[in-house]
Amino acid sequence: MDVASLSIDSISKGLRNRVFSARDIAGQALAFAQAENEKTNAYLHFCPERALAAADRVDAALAHGDDPGPLAGVPIAVKDVILVKDVRHTCASRLLENYLAPYDATAIIRLEEAGAIILGKANCDEFAMGSSNENSAFGPVRNPVDLTRVPGGSSGGSAAVVAQGTAVVSLGSDTGGSIRQPASFCGVVGVTPTYGRVSRYGLTAFASSLDHIGPFARSTRDAARVLQVMAGRDPLDSTSAFAPVDDYTAGLNGNVRGMRIGLPKEYFAHLESESGDLIHRGIRALEKLGCTVREISLPHTEYAISCYYIICTAEASSNLARYDGVRYTARAENAATLSDMYRNTRGNGFGAECKRRIMLGTYVLSAGYYDAYYRKAQQVRTLISRDFSQAFEQVDAVVAPVSPFPAFKLDEKLDDPMQMYLSDIFTITGSLAGIPCMSVPCGKTAQGLPVGMQILTNHFHEAAMFRLADAFERIGGGGAVI
Ligand code: GLN
Repeated sequence: MDVASLSIDSISKGLRNRVFSARDIAGQALAFAQAENEKTNAYLHFCPERALAAADRVDAALAHGDDPGPLAGVPIAVKDVILVKDVRHTCASRLLENYLAPYDATAIIRLEEAGAIILGKANCDEFAMGSSNENSAFGPVRNPVDLTRVPGGSSGGSAAVVAQGTAVVSLGSDTGGSIRQPASFCGVVGVTPTYGRVSRYGLTAFASSLDHIGPFARSTRDAARVLQVMAGRDPLDSTSAFAPVDDYTAGLNGNVRGMRIGLPKEYFAHLESESGDLIHRGIRALEKLGCTVREISLPHTEYAISCYYIICTAEASSNLARYDGVRYTARAENAATLSDMYRNTRGNGFGAECKRRIMLGTYVLSAGYYDAYYRKAQQVRTLISRDFSQAFEQVDAVVAPVSPFPAFKLDEKLDDPMQMYLSDIFTITGSLAGIPCMSVPCGKTAQGLPVGMQILTNHFHEAAMFRLADAFERIGGGGAVI
């Protein structure tokens, strides 16, 4: 068994035909992941006992002739912002370095009930704030495709482990692009479902009106299967949707003839040329599949970055207020007063990016500035959402780049937060609108760096998004097909 080339299908067949056991998979995946981690730093910690116990449950079910579940034996890594009970939960922050998760996130319960094996927690930017994974308090992740480059962020570890083959699938979180951008940089599939499609109970909040949990995988089919298990109403998250969950794999038959695709003209203006060529080649491949392609306009796109960085910092400043040294975090010692204790705990514990966002967010929410910034940003958000609703009256899917450029070098943008924020230019709009969006690999640059193509559909139209991405993969993902 080659752990790095397993898929959900091949695991299921191998288990049923007794080629290997779930314990074999768990043992080999853990050993492989631990050895490979020296290169990439993609895992922050492992949970071997939990993984082996989950594997034994799968093997016992198989031995009894019971159905072990749709994800039986599938090794999975979980971004370290999603709670896995009794396992360290750091959010890649010094503040939570020794915090143990007190309960399981709903997504974790659903995955384990479906037979998945959680190997460990994946590295990320501190509290999911960043675009390169360099904001982790525990060191950056290196992109397995090129170890001198970043894997993207904030779910950089989750993308890297799937690209590296040390997990078959993984979970990330996306607030403004943190699943799609690293998926694009590492050459894997990354899916941000509709806002509310997956329960966020047990996801550490960054910006609550924008946070999503979603899967990474090496194929659209595997990502769809993971989403299938996690999706659906959860009474523990009041924002989780009641909408029925479609069958995400039923329509994966390669037939997308007649599908109407819109290309937003605003997204092709700031695109580095090689990435642009690959996306255009991918679009021609979609035309060959029988899709009709037309230019559309999403006129408020230019305001998206400002709008996002007001809303997300405002919400982050409120959500991060709880890390005060009283309940969750290591407490600064020797403080003379309570305020000193707060100040020292937060001052020593948070990294520079979190502090920057707390300050910005507190400012835009403060009396006198709230109307000028926060309220205005909410109004602009509505306009951006409306752009998409109007587009989806004419087209079934929007196709766009994920990032203006491929994976950049470690340290390249670290001193320039504006440059870092601008790398989210194409992903933030989908997050603000709350629509499903994903990155699917669309070829490589001359230097061998992966480039992802973004597909966005209307609220709860994940099935159509997957059908298009899967059809695209079947013809080589924009590779040498034309
Ligand atoms: N890169 C964006 C940010 O820094 C998005 C982060 C995310 O989606 N969690 O906020």
